[in-house]
Amino acid sequence: MGKKRVCIVGSGNWGSAIAKIIGKNVRDRSELFEETVMMYMYEELVDGRKLTEIVNTEHENVKYLPGIKLPDNIVAVPDVVEASKDADILVFVIPHQFVKTTCRSMAGKIKKDAVAVSLIKGFDQTPEVGIQLISTVIHDMLNIDCAVLMGANLAHEVAEEQFCETTIGAATEEEGNLIKEVFETPYFRCSVVTDAQTVEMCGALKNVVAIGAGIVDGLKMGDNTKAAVIRLGLMEMVAFGEMFIPGCTRETFFESCGVADLVATCHGGRNRTLGEAVVQSEKTLKELEKEILHGQSFQGPLVAREIYSMLEQKKLTERFPLFTAIHQICKREMDPRAFIECLRNHPEHL
Ligand code: NAD
Ligand code: 13P
Ligand code: CA
Repeated sequence: MGKKRVCIVGSGNWGSAIAKIIGKNVRDRSELFEETVMMYMYEELVDGRKLTEIVNTEHENVKYLPGIKLPDNIVAVPDVVEASKDADILVFVIPHQFVKTTCRSMAGKIKKDAVAVSLIKGFDQTPEVGIQLISTVIHDMLNIDCAVLMGANLAHEVAEEQFCETTIGAATEEEGNLIKEVFETPYFRCSVVTDAQTVEMCGALKNVVAIGAGIVDGLKMGDNTKAAVIRLGLMEMVAFGEMFIPGCTRETFFESCGVADLVATCHGGRNRTLGEAVVQSEKTLKELEKEILHGQSFQGPLVAREIYSMLEQKKLTERFPLFTAIHQICKREMDPRAFIECLRNHPEHL
């Protein structure tokens, strides 16, 4: 078996943090991996300089992960085909709204036996097909296997090498264990499970619940109320999984991708910040994103909209009142103060 070449498709906040891990691991495991890791970077100018050029000379993503040095075997490449064409392992880590355009550029131009692993938390949604997992979109568009990696992994904390756990969801344990070689470090512990679709679903849905946690922060409620949001959100995630994911097992919710990611994001995530801001400000979500994130992206409101359209179509909004209310509050169709009423009357209490 030849050495495997890894490519990272994406270079935002999480993409850059994971690049730090991958760059070191491929060097430490040189019997398994090629040393150079191409990282696809959506090109932009920062203070008049190309971001790829800054990353390749200063080894720091000054816009999306300032203050963290990246290993010098990470090479930023502005052309996704150039970055990915020779790769054996493709690590997808872009905001989910850009997945289809990116895959469209790559289709037919990558190795036929490449494998993908998606770190992307979100769904795809179209009127024709409805909701799809991002791993399914990658699989269908590129005709390759796609595993996932999701967990309680706030990017800046991982970049600072603070201990955390994550979950790899793969079709087989063997594939999961190869992926683990790419990611595991003493401070980033990976567990492998084969219930991959539930792992991915947890990653997408917890971003919606996190907005709810932010809403109760914005309403100046305390930790008890936030804990109720987390618990009721978890119950809706479980119900969603049991309805829509074949083979969904409850044990998966106890992995890092489930309860742990929910707790982390409801306390320290960007989507929590958004929920708080929606209560405290009249600004649009676009304005808030620009003001708070400086180019990074909130995934939660997009996921809330994606699942809302499906729940509405299937006449299930009453079964998922928390997901539904969060979408309506983001759309400014519901007063955030009505959120507590929604918790009070949740089906879990009836
Ligand atoms: P981010 O929020 O930093 O997003 C900005 C990125 O999108 C930048 O790299 C930007 O160049 C890129 N971009 C902008 N327009 C683009 C386009 N048209 N095409 C392609 N790329 C474009 O990104 P992130 O934090 O790395 O998040 C990526 C995924 O990882 C998301 O699904 C997120 O939920 C997930 N995630 C994030 C974190 C975190 O703490 N940041 C942790 C775990 C998982
Ligand atoms: P936010 O996008 O809300 O910051 O969540 C990051 C994350 O997914 C942590 O695991
Ligand atoms: Ca995980």
